[in-house]
Amino acid sequence: MSTDPTFIALPTPEHTAAWVLAQVEQGLAAARTGVAALKAHPPADAMAALREFDAVETALSNVASVGSLFSEVHPLEEVRSAGEAAIQEVQRLSTELSLDRELYEVFAGLDATGLDADATRLLEKVRRDFRRAGVDQDDATRARITAINERLVLVGQEFSKNIRDDVRSIRVRPEQLDGLPQDWLDAHPAGEDGLVTVTTDYPDFLPVATYCTVRQTRLDLRLEFLNRAWPVNDDLLHELFDLRQELAGLVGYQNWADYDAEVKMIGRGSAIPEFIDQVTAAAEASGRRDLAVLLERVRVDRPDAEVVDSVDAVYYERLVQQEQYEVDTQKVRTYFTFASVRQGLLDVTGRLFGLTYVAVPDAPVWHPDVAAYDVHRGSDAAAPVVGRIYLDLHPREGKYKHAAQFDLVRGVEGRQLPEGVLVCNFPRGLMEHDQVVTLFHEFGHLVHHVLAGHVEWIRFSGVATEWDFVEAPSQMLEEWAWDAEVLRTFALDADGAAIPVELVAAMRRANDFGKGYAARTQMFYAAMAYAFHVERPSDITARTRELQERYSLFPYLEGTHMPCSFGHLEGYSSAYYTYMWSLVIAKDLFSVFRKEDLFDPEVAGRYRDLVLARGGSADAADLVADFLGRPYTVDAYTAWLAQ
Ligand SMILES: [Zn+2]
Repeated sequence: MSTDPTFIALPTPEHTAAWVLAQVEQGLAAARTGVAALKAHPPADAMAALREFDAVETALSNVASVGSLFSEVHPLEEVRSAGEAAIQEVQRLSTELSLDRELYEVFAGLDATGLDADATRLLEKVRRDFRRAGVDQDDATRARITAINERLVLVGQEFSKNIRDDVRSIRVRPEQLDGLPQDWLDAHPAGEDGLVTVTTDYPDFLPVATYCTVRQTRLDLRLEFLNRAWPVNDDLLHELFDLRQELAGLVGYQNWADYDAEVKMIGRGSAIPEFIDQVTAAAEASGRRDLAVLLERVRVDRPDAEVVDSVDAVYYERLVQQEQYEVDTQKVRTYFTFASVRQGLLDVTGRLFGLTYVAVPDAPVWHPDVAAYDVHRGSDAAAPVVGRIYLDLHPREGKYKHAAQFDLVRGVEGRQLPEGVLVCNFPRGLMEHDQVVTLFHEFGHLVHHVLAGHVEWIRFSGVATEWDFVEAPSQMLEEWAWDAEVLRTFALDADGAAIPVELVAAMRRANDFGKGYAARTQMFYAAMAYAFHVERPSDITARTRELQERYSLFPYLEGTHMPCSFGHLEGYSSAYYTYMWSLVIAKDLFSVFRKEDLFDPEVAGRYRDLVLARGGSADAADLVADFLGRPYTVDAYTAWLAQ
């Protein structure tokens, strides 16, 4: 007999460090015991073996979820440290298991006959993970793989550290900072020699790039910015690309991009440049058109200007948006008070996905700012509970600085209910519209986590889909935060007047300006990430210059070495295309929703059940095709880009 799963009972904050330690101890012990049993008495029945392994993965997942959440959000330092230690312990054991020959043999020898579709898929994934880790290679090869992986961690850390540590600066006279906001100028007084120091850190670099009227200042700072970590990271990049190539070769792939792409929606490495070229072509017309608008505006100031470069692009884009689209951001924010936006988000997503959120004021939480809600599947609180969400939306000391969704529990039908957390840093008063869009985006991940928390296997629970698809549902949900009729349900000013339809239209036009050339810049970055891994060029700077000329609409700046500070070469490796790939799918998914009725329950219900609720139970391409009734295409995206 099994009992219905319940929510985990979080301890009070001061008891949480001990609680996390106990979770780690019990979780890892359960995982080790499970693995030992599998190896000592390998079940002949494939389903039984998968069930036992699923229990091991569930134990590890539960420790990892608690660890990563509390390491980033808990107000007590000792709990954050305990969370970090938990993550490291799980990683260590996971790596050990991925190279455990005896454990691999259990799964390699199973007969898959008679398994249902989900279990067959799971067994394939388990075997594939082992093979990709290199567990089936001979001892010498496995030793080399282990050495490569250890070296890759160090190279990656050093590469990132060099970027962080190489803060450069320029020194300028105060009048060379004309145009910067007064509060920024006040914070940057001149030294005894009359010069102001301006660094390449974002709080200096971005305002100067955006507001400084003096081109020479913008140019000098950008040159420094693009040369961070040069030349030290050039050697590390060569080593990084060589090690990844060697690793891919040892486990049977032609190159790193093929190895990396195998577990993504794109499938094969050679599809990456095809995708890049497709987007590049689609962005050509609107990119050139908006570039011409920028050049015309540059020539008002400098009649002899022949091209727009990145030094001018950021500065003049803001001017064009301000002068030609007349969006008063000060006025816009008066419509977005935090409390009404939060309620609006719950109302909009509840209506769209057929959910009811019921506040649980007595649920234990880690900070008084955190609000817990039970999620009911249905139109009222009598409907069954399918998960719990926690909204942790304001900044505080020691808390994660960005916006993201975290797991607390990954759900498995009949065993554990999904619990997820939205972590953001919004003001308590008025919000920018950008922040409203971010809130909808992140909530997209949260609702995906909850709805896909009722699958049969932990491996497929929540946002366990391909990495280049995972952003699509969130990118699509952003559309509801750009729709005037949706916004007018909760975007009200102090007198209760809804945001004007014309203002939303102007905001959309301003936001769309420059999307073509921005897409081309992104494709330049994506082309670098792919080409560097596949070609491993001897002269990275020379190859950068060629790729920039081919893909970007802004020219290469002489003497710069941008890849040395392009941190995503570490994290994304050859797959920087992923965000744009997800956006292509998001635009196609959204094309099914009719503009006149974004809440059509038939369309929204099919989307919820066919795409979100299945988590990783099927390939993303199949989830999408089941919803669309056809394979996805780039048409909706290219039409949007061409507008
Ligand atoms: Zn996202």
